[in-house]
Amino acid sequence: MSFDVAIVGAGIVGLAHALAASRQGLRVVMLDRDAQANGASVRNFGFVTVTGQEQGDVWRRARRSREIWAEVARPAGIAIAQRGMLMVAQRAEAEDVIAAFLRTDMAEDCTWLDAKAAAERLAPMAPGRLRGALASPTELRVESREAVPALARWLEAGGLVTIRRGVAVHGVATGRVETSAGTVRADAIVVCPGDDLATLFPETLARAHVTRCKLQMMRLAAPGYRLPATIMSDLGLVRYLGYAALPEAAALRARLAADQPDQLANGVHLIVAQGADGSLIVGDSHHYAPTPDPFSSEAVDRLILDEFAAVFGTVPPVLERWTGTYASAAGHSLVETPADGVRLVVVTSGTGASTGFGLAEDVIGDLINQTIGAAA
Ligand SMILES: Cc1cc2nc3c(=O)[nH]c(=O)nc-3n(C[C@H](O)[C@H](O)[C@H](O)COP(=O)(O)OP(=O)(O)OC[C@H]3O[C@@H](n4cnc5c(N)ncnc54)[C@H](O)[C@@H]3O)c2cc1C
Repeated sequence: MSFDVAIVGAGIVGLAHALAASRQGLRVVMLDRDAQANGASVRNFGFVTVTGQEQGDVWRRARRSREIWAEVARPAGIAIAQRGMLMVAQRAEAEDVIAAFLRTDMAEDCTWLDAKAAAERLAPMAPGRLRGALASPTELRVESREAVPALARWLEAGGLVTIRRGVAVHGVATGRVETSAGTVRADAIVVCPGDDLATLFPETLARAHVTRCKLQMMRLAAPGYRLPATIMSDLGLVRYLGYAALPEAAALRARLAADQPDQLANGVHLIVAQGADGSLIVGDSHHYAPTPDPFSSEAVDRLILDEFAAVFGTVPPVLERWTGTYASAAGHSLVETPADGVRLVVVTSGTGASTGFGLAEDVIGDLINQTIGAAA
């Protein structure tokens, strides 16, 4: 059977391309070697972040992706688990970065809460060293381990998307996908392999210096309070480029290097999200290697939990620990044309849940030679 579009990889980036193509009335086949989604797309926070994304295309794609999550959530049966983001400032230097960010055009809808207003929003938690907080109403959060399968089911139910699981792809050329279940033919092919850097177009990925990043994550028991939004802290201001690229971030980086060198050395920053059952998803760390080891380091978990304690005080018991990996390289994403009608698409910045839908509209629009979506 022949399709308009074949997509390799049914993580969030592949699903985003299936959505964009099916919205154009195209017949799509998705091929994934795993029996169920098991990669970065179900190991993440499900935090759809706009505020703090890099200025320019990344920010535009994040805004568009956030819009699409909001559009598809109800019909696909995906619960929006949380809305908004509070970036808690613990140091004067963090306050300066936030003040500078608020002067940019990326800060529309964001506000500064002084220490009293922030403490009221965060009650009954009593964060230590609270100078105030950047509040954004824009962010969404979904429970990825439920949302990604729900999105896949809904796309299939729409009738234009077929998902074949347990099918490994070992070759792609114009119009043809070679798989463990035979050849699949399609006019256009999009390869979204996540952090598999070895199977398809390894030379292209090597040329772009794509490596892998390992992250440690935990789920903590419900603390007995509801978070008003997903929470971040000073360490996030030197990681997310929308803040970190501001000149004011240099002083914060220097202060953190003095105060928290181990957190910086292990790429630790704090994101705390909350599930419907009240449990907290807490992370993360960043370690880079072509083949990261699979082991969770207790010392690294401790650094993450130390930052949790600095913001929240008491640390609830840890219920689950896991690691995840994503493809990493300079720049937001890699979009290559290794053959006519073929695109290789890899988000290389750990933001696929936040930017994948917007990126996919750009790629599919280009593939079918027209601009689609809100950017039209
Ligand atoms: C711990 C963690 C936390 C994160 N938090 C966030 C967050 O809160 N917000 C955010 O925006 N981003 C976050 N990210 C990043 C985000 O999860 C990734 O950018 C995104 O999931 C990448 O999606 P993907 O579809 O490219 O990859 P994946 O989810 O890895 O999917 C790739 C799929 O391709 C399949 N595949 C690969 N090669 C083949 C082949 N040859 N044949 C058949 N199938 C193949 C695999 O089986 C897999 O199912 C986080 C990542 C991690 C690891």
